[in-house]
Amino acid sequence: MSDKKQLTTTSGNPIGDNQNSLSAGARGPLMVQDYQLIEKLAHQNRERIPERAVHAKGWGAFGTLTITNDITQYSKAKVFSEVGKKTDMVARFSTVAGEAGAADAERDVRGFSLKFYTDEGNWDLVGNNTPVFFVRDAYKFPDFIHTQKRHPKTNLRSSTAKWDFWSQSPESMHQVTILMSDRGLPTDVRHINGYGSHTYSLINAEGERVWCKFHFKTQQGHKHYTDEEAEQAIAKSRETTQEDLFGAIEKGDFPKWNVFIQVMTQVQSETFEHDPFDITKVWPHADYPLIEVGVMELNRNPQNYFAEVENAAYSPSNIVPGISWSPDKMLQARVFSYADAHRYRLGTHYEHLPVNRPKSQVNHYHKDGSMRFFDNFHENPDAYYEPNSFNGPVEDKQYVEPPFPVTGDGYRYNHRENNDDFVQPRALFNLFDDGQKERLFGNIGRAMDGVPDEIVERQLALFDKVDPAYGAGVRKALGR
Ligand code: NDP
Repeated sequence: MSDKKQLTTTSGNPIGDNQNSLSAGARGPLMVQDYQLIEKLAHQNRERIPERAVHAKGWGAFGTLTITNDITQYSKAKVFSEVGKKTDMVARFSTVAGEAGAADAERDVRGFSLKFYTDEGNWDLVGNNTPVFFVRDAYKFPDFIHTQKRHPKTNLRSSTAKWDFWSQSPESMHQVTILMSDRGLPTDVRHINGYGSHTYSLINAEGERVWCKFHFKTQQGHKHYTDEEAEQAIAKSRETTQEDLFGAIEKGDFPKWNVFIQVMTQVQSETFEHDPFDITKVWPHADYPLIEVGVMELNRNPQNYFAEVENAAYSPSNIVPGISWSPDKMLQARVFSYADAHRYRLGTHYEHLPVNRPKSQVNHYHKDGSMRFFDNFHENPDAYYEPNSFNGPVEDKQYVEPPFPVTGDGYRYNHRENNDDFVQPRALFNLFDDGQKERLFGNIGRAMDGVPDEIVERQLALFDKVDPAYGAGVRKALGR
């Protein structure tokens, strides 16, 4: 058809034949000057980038955060500046352990990563569908992830590795209980809650800091598969979550989450029964009630999955004035390691890719490197260092954060000392009705299939510490 666009090489040269390679004679051999053929093959070889070491399988969409309640007494962040304020955002959900081609309906934590394109740069909240995590000290982060990935010799996932690690890491009990409960196998990501999980801080216009946790409660309700239902779902399709999320948005059924914060003052943090910065603990709602913030809606599918979901790079290092970090040891490590993962995976200047690029002005002095594909940040090319006499961008002291107190000597403190790892899993276990408990026991029993006795016994002793009925239920499921 005449209105079709001209096919070109990557340098824009028109292509006359995209069906037949250039050969010496009809039967070949091929001629090396057929640059279009070489370009096609070279691009094919480069179509994949390293997949994420964790959270490789993902599903994403664009949307908005709309503020419905005034929380400016806690935070001066422009994203919260007034009721009715709308901020564009992009979400990426994921499983943790599976590779990029893994089936969606797997029992696993779901990543819940959000990037808000605020007026003062990007704010990323890189959370999960669980309010807690398996480990509290970043020293154990790579070890934990190794237990979720493939065995070096068999190249199979190893239940033995998982339970070996968990049974020697009692701080994992809270998260393991959530993972093995109904909510550990959601049907899709519209029907899950999201949690910032870490403790963050909010800073108001007076420079006062409070500690904070973020919650995203699904308006769609919770939906999960039993292990058996998931097996049936995977037998029919490995892409159930992608089909659900993409399909819902495509037909205008936009998923929404109610956004809340919990707030803790510095004084409260000093008398809280646990370390408020321990990511294996929640803050009980009765003591730290949910405060309404707004509504998040996903309403636009990506036009190009690779460019807008695979290239989306989330990092808790991205904070904005009025929102900041806390001493949480896992958060502190993730502030480094997530940005570093993207520098490795996508390249030095990954934040200038369209999906990651802030909608507000960016001015910095980082210079060259691979994929330096953007112009100078400011009009004057003489201003490429700081301080300079050529009107380059400068700091603004109003953005210096207020101090927060720290105490103690520099030391490798034993994070398992004086730490009750069972009281909160017990509260969760007591929330479950009889049916939920039975499914919990059954899920654990199946997940322990083939695990050596010594490891099973060590883990059973931990379940007993949560509640003797928990240990007894799993023993029964194991036929012991
Ligand atoms: P609450 O009764 O006030 O809160 C219970 C929380 O548990 C709600 O957020 C609820 O989420 C969630 N919940 C309900 N059923 C399940 C389930 N089957 N699996 C996982 N979560 C569920 O009690 P507390 O605040 O005192 O917390 C008690 C326990 O609840 C905690 O030890 C923790 O395990 C769990 N929890 C607590 C959260 C918190 O931030 N305080 C957050 C999530 C879980 P929903 O309203 O969406 O159903």
